[in-house]
Amino acid sequence: MEIDPRKLPDMPELMIAGPGELHEEDLEIMGRQVIAHYGDFWIKFHEQTIDQLARILGCKDLPYLIPGSGTACLDAAVGNLFEAGQRVVVAQTGFFGTRLNQIAHAHRLEVIEVDVEPGAPIDPTRIFEAAQKADGVLTVHVETATGVRHPIEEIAGAASDAGAVYVVDGIASVGGEHLRLDESGIDAVVTGTQKGLEAPPGYGILALGPGGRARLDARESRPAAFYLDLKVWDQYRDDWGDWHPHPVTMPSNLTLALGSSLGRILEAGLETWIDRRHQLATRCREGLAALGLEPIPQAGYESNLVVALWADDPAGIQKHLLEQGIMISGGLDPTMGKAIRVGLMGRTATDAMVDRVIAGVKEALSA
Ligand SMILES: *Cc1c(COP(=O)(O)O)cnc(C)c1O
Repeated sequence: MEIDPRKLPDMPELMIAGPGELHEEDLEIMGRQVIAHYGDFWIKFHEQTIDQLARILGCKDLPYLIPGSGTACLDAAVGNLFEAGQRVVVAQTGFFGTRLNQIAHAHRLEVIEVDVEPGAPIDPTRIFEAAQKADGVLTVHVETATGVRHPIEEIAGAASDAGAVYVVDGIASVGGEHLRLDESGIDAVVTGTQKGLEAPPGYGILALGPGGRARLDARESRPAAFYLDLKVWDQYRDDWGDWHPHPVTMPSNLTLALGSSLGRILEAGLETWIDRRHQLATRCREGLAALGLEPIPQAGYESNLVVALWADDPAGIQKHLLEQGIMISGGLDPTMGKAIRVGLMGRTATDAMVDRVIAGVKEALSA
């Protein structure tokens, strides 16, 4: 059967581990006519968006905003901050920890793996020991497969003591968790637009701390890339700054919706915003735990945007909720087939929606 995008069937409301649904206002902005990705209006708007991102990330160095997904910027971070043959320590936290490992291998880096039990935080002492013989450390902030928030500030201290460059995958954390890049000593943070920043999918964001910038400037050769060579982006920012400060066509509708969403977060105040997400995650986790499901993260390491609990029959729970018009996520390695995960981002991140999920799960469990 052919799908006619002009006549879509009703879709379930998303409470998955990303992307989140757009706020109504941003949805309208997405539907506006395409605008030029250069010229006076664009320059001003692009600059404002980058500045908003820098405020949210807590960095002075202007973040890179690159069409692609979060993973495009993970590729850029690893490819630009390390050179073939160098060694990196990668924490094996789950599906997205494994992805960091795969990206490091793709860039011909040697990988030293540090194991992490599902639900447990990364042990900074083990990172410090492993990093003695390495040039870099790669970890997630929030591992989306387990809903665990890892202690990135302690890991940054360990990496720095060992003289290693620390890159954080913040795709499931930025906007929903505390992270001040420059203060933390982290060298680079990557995120995407579609999770904690509550905008449409389609951009990767890469921000460098002072150490990351120094490392980029110190490297001997340029990476074997054009699109993801950060020096190409720097060059356009410098040489074409008053007209077209990036090497490629930018998705203007997406940028407008992103700017609107970032404005909403900053208007509320980042701390207030994060606090609300924390309260919502607590409501969700406690409500589901009261039904007998066990949260995956150790107490104190639960993330704000993805609530993950062990479940005997995740597929049955997901099916029941779908019948009520709500889509949640199942597990992902190492929780595949063994967990449910509820995403709290975007339009549906409300008490009312969380209560509907809890009620639906309760029915599914007693069916
Ligand atoms: C979603 C996610 C990714 C993948 O991001 P894309 O935008 O799909 O490339 C990577 N890491 C983490 C921690 C994620 O949650």
